Amino acid sequence: MESVLTYSDVLLHIDGKWRGSASGKTIPVLDPATEETIGTVAHADTSDLDEALAAADRGFRQWRAVSSFDRAKIMHKAAALMRERAETIAVLMVREQGKTLAEAKAETLSSADIIEWFAEEGRRAYGRVIPARAPNVYQLAIKEPVGPVAAFSPWNFPINQVVRKLSAALAAGCSIIVKAPEETPASPAELIRAYVDAGVPAGVINLVYGVPSEISQYLIPHPVIRKISFTGSTVVGKQLSALAGLHMKRVTMELGGHAPVVVFDDADVDAAAKIMAAAKYRNAGQVCISPTRFLVQKGVYNQFIDQFVANTRKIKVGNGLDKDSRMGPLANPRRVTAIEEMVLDAKAKGANVATGGHRIGNKGYFFEPTVVTDVPKDARAMNEEPFGPLALISPFSDFDEVAAEANRLPFGLASYAFTRSAKTATAIGAAIEAGMVSINSFGLALPEVPFGGIKDSGYGSEGGTEAMEGYFNTKFITQTGV
Ligand code: NAD
Repeated sequence: MESVLTYSDVLLHIDGKWRGSASGKTIPVLDPATEETIGTVAHADTSDLDEALAAADRGFRQWRAVSSFDRAKIMHKAAALMRERAETIAVLMVREQGKTLAEAKAETLSSADIIEWFAEEGRRAYGRVIPARAPNVYQLAIKEPVGPVAAFSPWNFPINQVVRKLSAALAAGCSIIVKAPEETPASPAELIRAYVDAGVPAGVINLVYGVPSEISQYLIPHPVIRKISFTGSTVVGKQLSALAGLHMKRVTMELGGHAPVVVFDDADVDAAAKIMAAAKYRNAGQVCISPTRFLVQKGVYNQFIDQFVANTRKIKVGNGLDKDSRMGPLANPRRVTAIEEMVLDAKAKGANVATGGHRIGNKGYFFEPTVVTDVPKDARAMNEEPFGPLALISPFSDFDEVAAEANRLPFGLASYAFTRSAKTATAIGAAIEAGMVSINSFGLALPEVPFGGIKDSGYGSEGGTEAMEGYFNTKFITQTGV
């Protein structure tokens, strides 16, 4: 195995070769815990993209001809390599992204589960035989790979956000150009390396970094590219969807959220506070399905706040490489500024900061796990995705009021509810406008279940059978015997 585990040379992967960009340009990579430059990543320009496009075009013709049985064998090998290399890859991820080592290792290992699931699902790309109206006629609906894919993935889950797109595309028989995150480039590059080392032919997977807007503007309209998959903010997702629409390209959009958490009077309040605090501060809250707007029924409001704040205060913040850290720094200074501003704004509008609220120290992008209560609806944080370690808790009186508040925002990604009543559970599951509802647990994001949003949170799925559908065309063939 080639070992490239330093940042000094995170490279592009184009047409089966690891290499720098044609221009030699690079982008520095920072450690968010120390603010030190830890390496660089190659910066692709148009000539690199042209090579990647030509390679993806050739790679598609070759890969679609490989049977799904043989594709699955290669994919299983890639999964095994991710498991084998998880310890070293996790360290790279912590250094570039900031999350704790335990979270980085879990993300790396879970990528192997995701690869395996898609490998097997690719083997079940069943079509249909549709009963004909006349004898001797066969009507077939078959699934064909959509073609070369352009995938854009963000920095919050450097491997997870790539592996879902990449594995679904490959399992379906597509080739792909991955534009991975420039801020966290090394760990996704190791995912690509596992696939390449497992035997994926040259040209099938291409990896580029650069200026995101320049790359998307170039790849999306390009005739070679047939499908776009993007994870990131709603603002950017809308721009890319518009461009894709102009060129009639298929899209999967996994965008922002603002997950409501509804805690009813009859809930197991202590369990709800514990489960949701763990979910809130995972990856320092930089998670699209992070629980954000806590709506707690009046009878248990104070109890929930006490429990949630107690759980919050237990979280030890520190460098993700330190064994006892439970939350690392934010991934970049933009998030620190955003959270600071949201807390100040909420306070100015009358909210109460129950714990946290400040940046920690002045080296590294550390921020206190923060709980704000009694937050007015016009506070910025109640309307914009915080994407940081900020929990907002507000009281409600009855079902209709909370259902309206849960659905007030244009987002519709994840949502959570806690109740001991089956009747209430069924009613809230039906009432919430979201792509995912998790009741009495944090039960989202397994490879085999759908993962995606509605409304401004996007379109399509990154998990389950639905994710594969995004990478298939349906072809209808009718054949009459002679
Ligand atoms: P941003 O909107 O600039 O970027 C978000 C992601 O989109 C980044 O990975 C970036 O490289 C990419 N991007 C931006 N412009 C692009 C373009 N024109 N073409 C292709 N890719 C482009 O903001 P940011 O500061 O990096 O992140 C802030 C916000 O983004 C967060 O508040 C959150 O709402 C959202 N976000 C969501 C997810 C998610 O998992 N859904 C992940 C990361 C960020």
